[in-house]
Amino acid sequence: MALPGEMKIEIDRELCMGSGNCSFWAEGVFDLDDDGIAVVLDPTAAPEDKIILAGQGCPTQAISITKDGEKLA
Ligand code: SF4
Repeated sequence: MALPGEMKIEIDRELCMGSGNCSFWAEGVFDLDDDGIAVVLDPTAAPEDKIILAGQGCPTQAISITKDGEKLA
């Protein structure tokens, strides 16, 4: 559960096709695991606008970002 004001980032591992776009846009927040599927490393490792761009730029819309119940990407 994210605290108030914190971004909650979720990755749908079924949808992710391992393009790596997210780790390019928000390095340190996202990375690819040993299966080549994206994972969240540290939600605070990049500015929020970069994380939102990364979420919006996912080619398979596998990333979902919410903050205080509002869907950002
Ligand atoms: S941008 Fe989307 S499809 Fe590409 S690695 Fe990240 S979550 Fe997976």
